[in-house]
Amino acid sequence: MSVQVFQSPSAQVEPLPEARDTNPLSVLTENERLHFGAVHQVARAEVAPLTRQMEGDGQIPPALIQTLTRYGFFGVAVPEQLGGSGQNFFEVVLTVEALSQADAAVGLLVDVHNTLIAGGISRFGRQDQRLRYLPKLASECIGAFSLSEAHSGSDAFALRTTATRVEGGFLLNGAKAWVSGGREAGLFLIFARASGPEGGPPEMGITAFVVDRQSDGLTVGPPESKVGLKASSTTPVFLKDCFVPDDAVLSKVGDGQRLAMSLLNDGRIGIAAQLVGIGQAALELAVAYAREREAFGRKIGKNQAVAFALADAATQVETARLLTWNAARLADQSNEVRYAAAMAKLTAQRMAESVTSLAIEIHGGTGYTTDCLAEKLWRDAKAGTIYEGTENMQLTTIAHGLHL
Ligand SMILES: Cc1cc2nc3c(=O)[nH]c(=O)nc-3n(C[C@H](O)[C@H](O)[C@H](O)COP(=O)(O)OP(=O)(O)OC[C@H]3O[C@@H](n4cnc5c(N)ncnc54)[C@H](O)[C@@H]3O)c2cc1C
Repeated sequence: MSVQVFQSPSAQVEPLPEARDTNPLSVLTENERLHFGAVHQVARAEVAPLTRQMEGDGQIPPALIQTLTRYGFFGVAVPEQLGGSGQNFFEVVLTVEALSQADAAVGLLVDVHNTLIAGGISRFGRQDQRLRYLPKLASECIGAFSLSEAHSGSDAFALRTTATRVEGGFLLNGAKAWVSGGREAGLFLIFARASGPEGGPPEMGITAFVVDRQSDGLTVGPPESKVGLKASSTTPVFLKDCFVPDDAVLSKVGDGQRLAMSLLNDGRIGIAAQLVGIGQAALELAVAYAREREAFGRKIGKNQAVAFALADAATQVETARLLTWNAARLADQSNEVRYAAAMAKLTAQRMAESVTSLAIEIHGGTGYTTDCLAEKLWRDAKAGTIYEGTENMQLTTIAHGLHL
């Protein structure tokens, strides 16, 4: 008896894709290869030299954000006629991976902006919203995603922020939490529970609003003090009678839950790419050290135990990358990516934690000092086990597909 599990091409019993028409996953097209190479070059030249400074300052310098904007990294998949680079989601993912290899906080900023905000407005916005916001997002304005609240993270749709219908729009009230890029953002995608006017019709449901930072009644709180990703601001956003007009609603009133779940699939693929970048950086650091550090009269990498640990790490990085790239390619072909995204993120978060930890051990005592980059990579990787869904949330999604 055959059981169909997961609606992905790899799991379909039939029809199987024609093998001769497919490329190995790790083979990039000419455009993709050029793009990936160019982002790596920018990452090495412009981002990597600043990583320690950014960590110390607890912020990404505005000048670097401007530089990355000039390279088009904030409008990767925005159409060219709207000021973007007109590339696809896969190229967004390559951008995030390459930047995260140099600095995961920069990778995160670019990831959230492209996958959740520009991607959200492209996919769910009306034409007037696309025309209004996408050129800004590609050129001058950072976007941030605001779903979580203090009491609702995994259980995101238990959110309490309200959107009360008034003439011409809604009044937002509540406290959002954990907004990545909150300090830098000019535009927020805010999820709130919409209801009719006081004493009016009953609840209309969770709704997504595109909200300008300058809106009266919106204030951004101070950044959290975090274990890692120190250059990335993670802030609360407070809403006190914040008026948003009707045309700030993304998609339609009450559609916020469907929209968030769909967007978070893309978001998970982006975070998986960020974690692949972190894992790749840790692997390269550890291999370089194993080639040069001597103990017992020979390079430590000449010990089979060290070589095998690194071989295992290389395999973990490549496994996570292939799942991530495959999920991104599926997304570009408008496939259902819920399971592919959860599997990619789960694999990438486990890989990044394990490979960065190994990188510390390969460096011995030096690895445990804050002078060694391995410890920063390890701290940065840890966030991947929490945001865009904890390990248990990825497993919950994957288990759902097993129809147990
Ligand atoms: C650095 C950082 C950046 C973030 N950026 C953003 C952002 O930009 N926008 C945004 O909206 N949010 C953001 N978040 C919030 C993030 O998405 C949440 O922290 C995450 O979803 C977990 O929610 P929580 O913190 O409320 O933990 P909880 O939901 O309270 O979970 C606590 C623990 O309980 C487990 N758990 C909970 N329910 C279940 C269950 N049913 N079954 C099994 N286990 C369960 C979880 O797996 C976890 O281990 C960010 C968080 C961090 C740390």
